[in-house]
Amino acid sequence: MSTSVEKENGKQRCDMGGWFYRHRQLYPPNWDEIAYQVKEEAGWKCELCHAPHGPPPFVLTVDHLDFNPGNCARENMMALCQRDHLRRQAMRPPPMTKEEVFRRMTPRGVQLDLWALPPPSPMSQCNNTAG
Ligand SMILES: [Zn+2]
Repeated sequence: MSTSVEKENGKQRCDMGGWFYRHRQLYPPNWDEIAYQVKEEAGWKCELCHAPHGPPPFVLTVDHLDFNPGNCARENMMALCQRDHLRRQAMRPPPMTKEEVFRRMTPRGVQLDLWALPPPSPMSQCNNTAG
């Protein structure tokens, strides 16, 4: 439901919770519902590593890929475990789209089914001179 963020009781349970409280006004008023819906759609698993929602570092979070909590377009949000959420945000430059998250944060040759690549178009084959 509300995952690791509990009602304000003066004690913040982790850094991300503290961040959330300091930036609460950046989120839409129905953020809890939005986040819940995103996690529902993800089956309560990390979209990247498939770890089920659980205790840290596998608390399921909703990450805004453009770092703007007010941008709740579905393609801007990913259900990520706390570990992958922090890992993405620590990358320089951080991946800002789902495609980039999967491409840069998934080991090559592993979990390729997560992001089925479209088949190469005839045009791209014609232009494929760069090797
Ligand atoms: Zn994960």
